[in-house]
Amino acid sequence: MTDQMTDHLTDHRRLGRELELFGTDPLIGAGLPYWLPDGAAVRHSLEEYVRDVERKAGYRHVYSPVLGKREMYEISGHWAHYRDDMFPPMDLGGEQVVLRPSLCPHHAVMFRSRARGYRELPYRMAELGPMYRAELSGVLGGLTRVRAIQLNDAHVFCTLDQVGEEAAAALGLIRRAYADLGIEAARFRLSLPGGGGKYVADPGMWRRAEAMLTEVLDASGLEYEPAEGEAAFYGPKIDVQVADPAGRESTLSTVQVDFHQPERFDLSYIGPDGARHRPVMVHRAIIGSVERAVAHLIEAHAGAFPAWLAPLQLVALPVTDQEVPAALELVRRCAERGLRADLADPSRGTLGARIREARLVPYQAVIGPREAVDSLAAPRLRDGRRPGALPVPELVDRVAAVAASRSHELWA
Ligand SMILES: [Zn+2]
Repeated sequence: MTDQMTDHLTDHRRLGRELELFGTDPLIGAGLPYWLPDGAAVRHSLEEYVRDVERKAGYRHVYSPVLGKREMYEISGHWAHYRDDMFPPMDLGGEQVVLRPSLCPHHAVMFRSRARGYRELPYRMAELGPMYRAELSGVLGGLTRVRAIQLNDAHVFCTLDQVGEEAAAALGLIRRAYADLGIEAARFRLSLPGGGGKYVADPGMWRRAEAMLTEVLDASGLEYEPAEGEAAFYGPKIDVQVADPAGRESTLSTVQVDFHQPERFDLSYIGPDGARHRPVMVHRAIIGSVERAVAHLIEAHAGAFPAWLAPLQLVALPVTDQEVPAALELVRRCAERGLRADLADPSRGTLGARIREARLVPYQAVIGPREAVDSLAAPRLRDGRRPGALPVPELVDRVAAVAASRSHELWA
């Protein structure tokens, strides 16, 4: 199979349209996709997953506004080093506000909203929040080059001694998420500054941050490659690269060590000695942007998502109109358990046609006259297995257990 054919078969734009996950409209604008109910269900499951693993890893979630004063980005350095990628400022009552190009400055300002003691560190602040990039060109109609981005971001404010452990823990979260989501990393990259003026200048700071990330990567046992010219303007980073079916690479996840913004925002904590000390900021994104992650998941699974992510998890298939009430009862029980289930009744075609139409749904539950009488359902799994009829509550329990465990196995 040629690259082009693979590309054609699994391109996330084509599947997104066919499966009615997302779309774009010239009236809304290029690079501004909307999410249809099935796409929103996948995105919601993914966001809940991220919040769940972050909570368990000691992160606390916040919300911050999508706008900020231009002055804040002058302080952070975005205005000087990143302005070309930002939307133009809006004049508002004698001030200028901009759509934020990152969440970091808001979080830095929130950290310093009151005095912090060393016992509060590491302080792990997380947010799944929107940010904006003024992409001038790009592939329209997709999720990979967008102007409005939902970022899975977090900032760990910590002491210098805690940086290694926090960065290693973040890398661990990324690797675990990839296993849960069925994503394979193509490459781990240590992204370093290149030539040109797009980086803040403080050679000592860059060397220290680079040494710390190198240590984390060496200790992880992962193979990685250094790449010049790929750092953030404020510091070096570990980038986790993924490849699409055509082999094109992009960065999905990142861990960054930053001495610059704590300095610029004059962040501090009170140490055991009673004096003020400067914390370090570790920036990290487990799945990067939700748009890019979903695009990658669509392609990696060719639309056949693991049960916990699937837009529709179970479809109830009554053989004739007689079994519609029994099928509706199954759908109701699924909904009660938080599962996404739907009815495909006989008006939508023969049983065979309805099964084919639901081929990407993990569980297809057939209910014929015999099953209806005994409150049974006969599951057909997406992979072709047919475990045999079982009582409706038991089927619902099994499907709910698989979804809750986020397993890739359809039948335990
Ligand atoms: Zn950040």
